[in-house]
Amino acid sequence: MNYSDKINPVVREMKPSGIRKFFDVAAKMPDVISLGVGEPDFVTPWGIRDAAIKSLQRGYTQYTGNRGLGELTQEIALYLASRFGATYDPASELLVTVGASEALDVAMRTLTRPGDEVLIPDPSFVSYAPCVALCGATPVPVVCSADNGFKLTVAALEAAVTPKTRVVILPFPNNPTGAVMHRADLEPICRWIVEHDLTVISDEIYAELTYGGKHVSAAALPGMRERTVLVSGFSKAFAMTGWRLGYAAAPKPFTDAMLKIHQYTIMCAPSASQYAGLAALRIGREDGYAAVADMREKYDLRRRFLVAEFNDMGLDCFEPEGAFYVFPCVKRCGMDGETFANELLAAKHVAVVPGEAFGASGRDYVRCSYATGMRDLETAVGRIREFVAEVRNH
Ligand code: PLP
Repeated sequence: MNYSDKINPVVREMKPSGIRKFFDVAAKMPDVISLGVGEPDFVTPWGIRDAAIKSLQRGYTQYTGNRGLGELTQEIALYLASRFGATYDPASELLVTVGASEALDVAMRTLTRPGDEVLIPDPSFVSYAPCVALCGATPVPVVCSADNGFKLTVAALEAAVTPKTRVVILPFPNNPTGAVMHRADLEPICRWIVEHDLTVISDEIYAELTYGGKHVSAAALPGMRERTVLVSGFSKAFAMTGWRLGYAAAPKPFTDAMLKIHQYTIMCAPSASQYAGLAALRIGREDGYAAVADMREKYDLRRRFLVAEFNDMGLDCFEPEGAFYVFPCVKRCGMDGETFANELLAAKHVAVVPGEAFGASGRDYVRCSYATGMRDLETAVGRIREFVAEVRNH
């Protein structure tokens, strides 16, 4: 059988994720320390796990409505309004999904047509471009450089826009750079988007993890709500990656359209996970999101430790204001990020992700996740320090 001929060429040509590829190698090394995976090292807080267990004990094991549990969409609407000033009708403007990942895919398929161009800040999360390609649309990178703190600028958008441009992805706080767009950064971008009458997918999965001021939602800026699909979820803020629970919030015509794809492909997010998500938001509303604040405080300590250490080693390391990654430049070691990551793994058994996995602009960088315990971080930094000293003295 000529399998190659039988497979959709878009899928055939798709490269495996640069993150996974690397970790398959790392997983085979016994004493490796991984600063690679983008998932919290914390276990989901007990109250959330307990709520899911209770839902199973009570026998809540059926499908829920396609949009998600009514109580959950109500809590999500309260949460988005109170935390970020983004207001949505729980019954008609929210869709509960299998992680933010499904929300991104469904939003992309809803907003793009074959032949459209989608502007994607570069570097960015690995899934955006493949999801765009699966729609028959073209991902267009918009360079975000270290000189601008990896923020998106109107000049960069202007350089990338064409008459085919239809959608802009706003991925802030950013994975992998940790860049955040403050209100003053976002306002000119949003004005430009409104002027060009584009639609937006705003991936705000790291909204709770900001260290220099509160997250500003693009959907809450003038003229933006009507054209934005806000994507978020429980994975990062509540340490719930394995539960696979996220959501999309958007005007009814968008969620109605997204619902059609969701109901034919997914039906509904797992019910036990939805009860867990409901507990996460209810408990948070009652105790001021204490568990989130506690995790954020720990991430912040690690963030400051890593930035100081990398700069002290002589690697320029931009201070990230969000998410849980640092993105040092490794150019001074005389190599690109891919070579650095491979040689570091081979020599010192520390796994980091080559920046190029997130787009061509990340070529001279590596992404290090600090969703890793402090003891491991200290050991990893000691090994990286040795490696950097060795290659720079060579
Ligand atoms: N968006 C970004 C920027 C991410 O980094 C991730 C996961 O790493 C996701 C979306 C997917 O999140 P989820 O686990 O909710 O599917």
